Amino acid sequence: MSPSQDVLNKLTPVLTKRWLSPDAWRINTYEKLDGYQGLKKALKAHPDDLIQLVKDSGLRGRGGAGFPTGLKWSFIPQNDGKPHYLVVNADEGEPGTCKDLPLMMNDPHSLIEGVIITCYAIRAERAYIYIRGEAVHAARRLRNAVAEAYARGYLGRNILGTGLNVELVVHSGAGAYICGEETALLDSLEGFRGQPRLKPPFPATHGLYSSPTVVNNVGTIASVPYIVLGGVDWWRQMGTEKSSGPMIYSLSGRVVNPGQYECTMGITLRELLELAGGMQPGHELKFWTPGGSSTPMFTAEHLDVPLDFDSVAAQGSMLGTTATQIFSDQDCPVYATYRWIEFYAHESCGKCTPCREGNYWMVRILRRILSGQGTHDDLDTLLDACDNLLGRSFCALGDGATSPVTSSIKYFKQDYLDYIEGRTKPLLDARELVGA
Ligand code: NAD
Ligand code: SF4
Repeated sequence: MSPSQDVLNKLTPVLTKRWLSPDAWRINTYEKLDGYQGLKKALKAHPDDLIQLVKDSGLRGRGGAGFPTGLKWSFIPQNDGKPHYLVVNADEGEPGTCKDLPLMMNDPHSLIEGVIITCYAIRAERAYIYIRGEAVHAARRLRNAVAEAYARGYLGRNILGTGLNVELVVHSGAGAYICGEETALLDSLEGFRGQPRLKPPFPATHGLYSSPTVVNNVGTIASVPYIVLGGVDWWRQMGTEKSSGPMIYSLSGRVVNPGQYECTMGITLRELLELAGGMQPGHELKFWTPGGSSTPMFTAEHLDVPLDFDSVAAQGSMLGTTATQIFSDQDCPVYATYRWIEFYAHESCGKCTPCREGNYWMVRILRRILSGQGTHDDLDTLLDACDNLLGRSFCALGDGATSPVTSSIKYFKQDYLDYIEGRTKPLLDARELVGA
């Protein structure tokens, strides 16, 4: 199935525009294709004007929460006598999410250019990219790119003769999902065990080493050079009024061509599926996540929901990380939920009781249902556990874990009942319950 012209027009390669160029990750290619032009333009502007520009662009955080970027930058106190820091959250770990990793592999200099402009805007002289521990290839590629940028005078002291100093360090984590939570990330960067801190105070005032710190996602920072170069009007043309710009949607699961599709915000799953060649032959859409497993799942009823922050929220879910995981009539929503909750139970940092205990017990209940040993009361117990997690957990991990459970029971209660009432053959062996 080839996509219609209307749908093709929604493809807006901006952050992905260099990905298919030969040696896209090398500084020579980057410079040939507009690279570091945004920085040169930015350095002619006043830092406050850059903050205003990003505010006017409407750019919202690409890490999942969608917080307005320019507003976050403006929270950094000025003339406070403290060092300021920029920390790039490259700990992409939300199940199904795959947009920051390919960006760092294919175009690391766009991130580095964004880092330098942001440091200039927020008056920071030191920046860190905190990258997921398992992403060894991307970390190596980033470090090589950072070395290239130092050698060309884009990083270090007196950048391009302007007096600006920026030191950039790439720091690898150790592969804990919780270290993607911004304050756990800061603890980890400081050398402590990564556990969330109480917010407020927010990192904008009390971040790394208790100093004002901007923590932004890879995609957010990599967007900055394009906004500086292309301007607010051009950026705003792509997307909706409250969700501006292009967005990288990662499609995985039962689609013909899974991968990253950079499109105007507000595209629908129906259109994304058209771009991705449709569902795999013999598969019919049953459920999907709009933004990773922490966002309540959608069904075929939601094919035409515009995938922007507000439209998705209006339908009871979240845009999250725009990781659309596509499941078909041959996939079981109960089993998918079980695998996700196993993940949350494993990754729970253990600091607060609702998340530490709630996920532990939800895994056991789901396992019992999938083994054909579940009871009708189990469904109430699962919902009760979610009630005690949502809004009562210390950080977003606990809240996120309730999404697959509550949404799968909402849309697919019958699938649960089919296991409980013996109509579906158990997927798990009851012997696995021993010791559970
Ligand atoms: P949040 O809404 O608490 O905060 C978003 C950002 O805004 C933070 O940087 C926070 O410091 C800042 N902020 C909010 N209010 C502020 C204020 N009053 N003053 C100053 N700064 C303020 O969300 P969060 O807990 O940072 O993130 C949750 C999201 O992360 C979830 O929606 C989920 O989709 C996403 N997530 C992403 C990944 C990934 O791999 N990218 C993994 C897990 C979760
Ligand atoms: Fe740790 Fe979970 Fe509590 Fe977050 S919600 S602090 S991950 S135990």
